Amino acid sequence: MCIEKLALFDGPKAITTSFKRYNSIGKEEAKAARLVVESGNLSKFLGSREPDFFGGPKVKEFEKQCAKYFGVKHAITVNSWTSGLIAAIGAIGIEPGDEVIVPTWTMCATATAILHWNAIPVFADINSDSFCIDPISVEKNITPYTKAIMAVDIFGQSADLNTLMSIAQKHNLKVISDTAQAPGAFYKTKMAGTLAHIGGYSLNYHKHIHTGEGGILVTDNEDLAERLQLIRNHAEAVVDGKDIKKLKNMIGYNFRLGEIECAIGIEQLKKLKGLVSSRQVVANKLTEGLAGLSGLQTPKINKDCSHVYYVYPMKLDTQKLGISRSRIIEALEAEGLVGLMAGYVNVHLLPIYQQKMAYGSNSFPWSSDICHRDVNYSKGICPIAETLHESTFMGFEMCLHQMSDPEVESMILAFKKVWSNIDSLR
Ligand SMILES: *Cc1c(COP(=O)(O)O)cnc(C)c1O
Repeated sequence: MCIEKLALFDGPKAITTSFKRYNSIGKEEAKAARLVVESGNLSKFLGSREPDFFGGPKVKEFEKQCAKYFGVKHAITVNSWTSGLIAAIGAIGIEPGDEVIVPTWTMCATATAILHWNAIPVFADINSDSFCIDPISVEKNITPYTKAIMAVDIFGQSADLNTLMSIAQKHNLKVISDTAQAPGAFYKTKMAGTLAHIGGYSLNYHKHIHTGEGGILVTDNEDLAERLQLIRNHAEAVVDGKDIKKLKNMIGYNFRLGEIECAIGIEQLKKLKGLVSSRQVVANKLTEGLAGLSGLQTPKINKDCSHVYYVYPMKLDTQKLGISRSRIIEALEAEGLVGLMAGYVNVHLLPIYQQKMAYGSNSFPWSSDICHRDVNYSKGICPIAETLHESTFMGFEMCLHQMSDPEVESMILAFKKVWSNIDSLR
C-alpha cells in the first residue's frame, strides 16, 4: 500500500496529467459535412404531405442505419432528445391531467416533456445499486390517472425493462425509455432503449456519439412511428384526410434535424461500438483497481446486461469510513483528479415542482381542474435518491475524458493513497 503523504497535506500529487477531453469528431465527419454543404441541400424537409415530408437523403439514410443498428422497425431523427421526449409523450396519446411516472434521477427534460402536454409528472425513487427507476416505487405510485412510465437508463445501464413492461401491461400503461446516456448498452439480447413502446437517444455533444445537437427516436410500432413523424413536422398541416382518431395531440412542432447533422450522425454511428468499448475497457480497469477499498462500491451491473459508462457510478459507505463524501472528494481532487460528481440531482426538488409553478403564475397545470389530485413533491418522497444525492453517491464523468493507461493507473493510485491515509482525514 502507498503510504505517501496526501497531496491535501502537501505531499506529491498522484495524478500529474490533465485528462484530455474526448473528441470523436474527425476527418470522416468533416468530409461528410463538407459534401452536404457543397450539395447546397442543408435540409429538404417540407411541412406538407409529399415525400419530402420525411426529410432529405441524409435524414433518411441516417434513420435507416439507426434502425438497423438498434434493431428496430423505425428510427426517427429529431433536433434534440428533449424534442424527442416531447414528441414521445404526445405520440402515446396523453391527455391533459394524466399522470406519468418518472424517476427523480434524470435530466430535467424527461419530466418537463410531460408538463409540455399539460400532464403531471409523478416522481418515483431509484434502485440503490443501478440508480435507475425502482419498479417497486413505480407500482406504489400508480393511480387510476397514471398513463405512462418513463424509464431512464441512467449513467449507461438499462433500467429493469422486463419488470417495467410487465407492470405496464398489468395496468395498461405505455413505457417510454430515455436512453440518452446508454446508446449501445445491452439489456439481455436487446439494445437498451428498444424494449419500451418508444425509446431513444441524445446526439448532444456531451453524449457517447453526437452531431452537436440532435436525437433519435426508436419504436417497433407503426402507428406510434407515424405520430412521431407528424409531431416532428407540423402535424396539423398534414392530418387532413387522415383517420380522425389520429387527430389527438396532432399539434406539431418543428423538431426536424438537418442534413449536415445526419451526415455527421452516419459517421458517428459507425464509431459507437468502438467508443463504447473504449469506455468499458477503462471502467473495467478502474473496477479492478479499486476492488478491495473498504467502504467504496464500484458499479453493479445487472445480470445479462452491459454498462456503457456515460458516468462511472460509485457509492460510499460514509458510516463505515467515518468520513464525509465531501472530505473524500477534497482529498481526491487535491491528488489531481478532475471529473468527480458529488451526488447527482433530485428533479422533484427543483423549484418548478417545489413551487408548482410552470405555465404562468397560477400553478397551472396543478391548480387546474384537469389535475385529478394533489400530487406530492415533498422532500422525503424519494428517500433512496435523496440520501444518495446528499451524502453517498460519487460519480466520475467517464464519457467526457479520454484516458491513457498510465492515467487510469494514476487515478487508481489517487484512490489508494486516499484510502490508505483515511485516518488522517478524519
Ligand atoms: C442529455 C439528456 C437528455 C436531453 O438530451 P438533449 O439532446 O440534450 O436534449 C434527456 N435525458 C437524459 C437522461 C439525458 O442525459
